[in-house]
Amino acid sequence: MPAIGIDLGTTNSCLSIVEGGVPEVVVNAEGERTTPSVVAFTKDGERLVGALAQRQSAMNPARTVSSVKRHMGTSWRKDVDGKDLSPQELSAMILRKLRRDAERFTGQDVTDAVITVPAYFNDMQRNATKDAGAIAGLNVLRIINEPTAAALAYGLDHGDSQLVMVYDLGGGTFDVSVIEIADGVIEVLSTAGNNHLGGDDFDERLTEHLISAFEAQSGVSLTGDEMARQRVREAAEAAKRELSSLESTTVNLPYLAQGPEGPVHLEQTVTRTQFDQLTRDLVDATTDAVNQALNDAGIAASELGEVLLVGGSTRIPAVQEHVRRLTGKTPSSSINPDECVAKGAAIQAATLSAARSGCTDLMPRGGDLLLLDVIPISFAIETVGGVATRVIERNTTLPVHYEQVFTTAASFQTKVEINVMQGERPMAADNRSIGKFMLKGIKRAPAGTPQINVSFDIDANGILTVTAKDLGTGNEQSITITDSERLSDEEIQQAIRDAERYEAEDAAKRASMEERTEAEQLVAQAQEKLKESGKEMDKDDKRRLKASVANVQRCLAKRPEKMKEEDKANFTSAVSELKSLLP
Ligand code: AMP
Repeated sequence: MPAIGIDLGTTNSCLSIVEGGVPEVVVNAEGERTTPSVVAFTKDGERLVGALAQRQSAMNPARTVSSVKRHMGTSWRKDVDGKDLSPQELSAMILRKLRRDAERFTGQDVTDAVITVPAYFNDMQRNATKDAGAIAGLNVLRIINEPTAAALAYGLDHGDSQLVMVYDLGGGTFDVSVIEIADGVIEVLSTAGNNHLGGDDFDERLTEHLISAFEAQSGVSLTGDEMARQRVREAAEAAKRELSSLESTTVNLPYLAQGPEGPVHLEQTVTRTQFDQLTRDLVDATTDAVNQALNDAGIAASELGEVLLVGGSTRIPAVQEHVRRLTGKTPSSSINPDECVAKGAAIQAATLSAARSGCTDLMPRGGDLLLLDVIPISFAIETVGGVATRVIERNTTLPVHYEQVFTTAASFQTKVEINVMQGERPMAADNRSIGKFMLKGIKRAPAGTPQINVSFDIDANGILTVTAKDLGTGNEQSITITDSERLSDEEIQQAIRDAERYEAEDAAKRASMEERTEAEQLVAQAQEKLKESGKEMDKDDKRRLKASVANVQRCLAKRPEKMKEEDKANFTSAVSELKSLLP
C-alpha cells in the first residue's frame, strides 16, 4: 500500500507519492498540482473542497472557509447549519479529498501518510493536525516540520555537513528556518517568521492600486461593491503571477461597474517596477526574521551552505533578489517551491513505510536520513508564586525525555495541581497553559516532604505526554490532561463517523443527479423520435414509447429529496424501460 506525503498549507495543499524511488506530485481530480485549502457548503447542503469551493467563494462568502490552518489547535469553530465544525474537521475534509485524489492516481486504497506542519507549531497544533488526519481516515505515520521536508526533497544529505536556510513565503504565512545536516541527521536549529505575511498581502496591494486608478479615471467608486472588488482581486493575483516572468502586463476587466453613462471597464498596464514599488515594504518585512533565525542558530549568513526557497510567493523576482542580498547566496529553486514540502513528506512517508515492512530496498533517495526536529517553544510548569519553572528548553532536539521531582508547598496537602505550559516568559500568567492535571492521594505530610516525580516525554512528532508518580506511596497515578482545545477520543470517533456518513450522502446525491440527467436526456431523445418518425412507427410501439416517456416524466416531477425508496426504485425501472425502447 503506498504511503503519501501531504503539505497541508494555509492557502494551498499539495500531495506527493514516491514512485520508482522518486517523489512525484499527484495531480488532483481537477487536473491541478496543488489544491486550494478551501471548503464550502452550498445552500443545498453539498460540500465542496478545493478549486470548486474557491471559485464560488465570492458568491457564498458566509459558507466558505479558507485559511483554517491559522485556527489549528484553538477553540475556533465554524457554524454550518447549526453544526459547529472544528478546525480539525474542516482540515479533514481537505485531507479526505487529497486521499481520494491519491487513490484515484494509484488505483489502490491509501491510508498511510506523513503530514507537514510549520516548525513553530506547538503541541496542540500538531495534535490537531494529527487528529484531522485520523478524521479523514488516514494513519498518520508522522508529523514533520515543513523546512525539514524541504531539505529532504532537495536530498541535501550527501557530502559534508552543512547549514541550510529555508525561506518559506506562502499565501498567508512567512517562516524561515536554519537547519543543520550532518552525518545523515537533519536538525532544525532555529525558526522565526510572521504568521500574517504572504502572497495575499501582495495581492491586496495591487488590488488597491488598480481600484484607485480605476476610480480616478472613471469617477465611479467601487466602495461596497464586493463583487467588483473580488473580480479585481482575482485579476491582481493573476497579474502578480505574470509579473514573475514578464516585465509588464495588462489587467483587463470589461463591465466592471455601472457608471452614470453606462458600463465602465478597467484596463490598466502594470510594470514589474511598479509592482515592486507597491510591495517593497512587504519584502523588507522578511528581513528581521531572517536575522533572528541566524542569530538563534548562532551562525553568520556566510556559514550557510544552501538557501532553499519554498512557497509560491518566492517566485517573485524581488523576493529572490532580497534573499540573495540578505544571505549573500543564490537561493536554490530547482524544485518547484509549491511542491518541495510535499515531496519531502512523500520521501519520509516511503521511508517509514519501507522501514516498517522491512523492504529497505524500497527506500527512496534520502530515506536513510534520520529526522531530528527541535521544539520551538519551551515547556514549563507553574510553581509556587505563579512562577513558570522551565522544564524543557526551546530548541531541544526531539525526541526528549525529562523528569524532575517536585514537592508540596503547604503542609498536609493531599493533592497538587500541575499546570503545564508553553512559552518563554518567567511568570506563569504570561505563558500559554496547554493542560492542567490534579495529582491526588498524596500522603499527609509537612510541606516539602512528599516527592512527586513528574516526567515529560515528547515523541518524534513533537507530541507531549506527561506522567506523574508519587514516590512516597510508590503509586503511579494516571493523569488526565484537561485540554479544552483538543478533541476527545469520542469526539474524534464521532467526527470520523460524520465524515464517512457525509461522504456516502454526497456520493448518493451525485448518483441521483446523474440518473436525473440521464432521464432528461432519454425523454428528449424519445420526444425527438416521436416527432421525426412518429408517422412511420408501429401504433403499439408508439403507444408504448409515449407511455414510457410519461412514466419517466412523472418520476422526474418528484423532487429528489422527497423521493422514498419505493419512488427511487420506480424511477430506476422507468428509466431502464425507456432506455430499452430507444436505439
Ligand atoms: P503556497 O501557499 O506556497 O501555495 O503559495 C501560494 C501563494 O503563492 C499565493 O499567494 C500565490 O499567488 C503565490 N504564487 C504562486 N505562483 C506565483 C508566481 N508565479 N508569482 C508570484 N506569486 C505566486
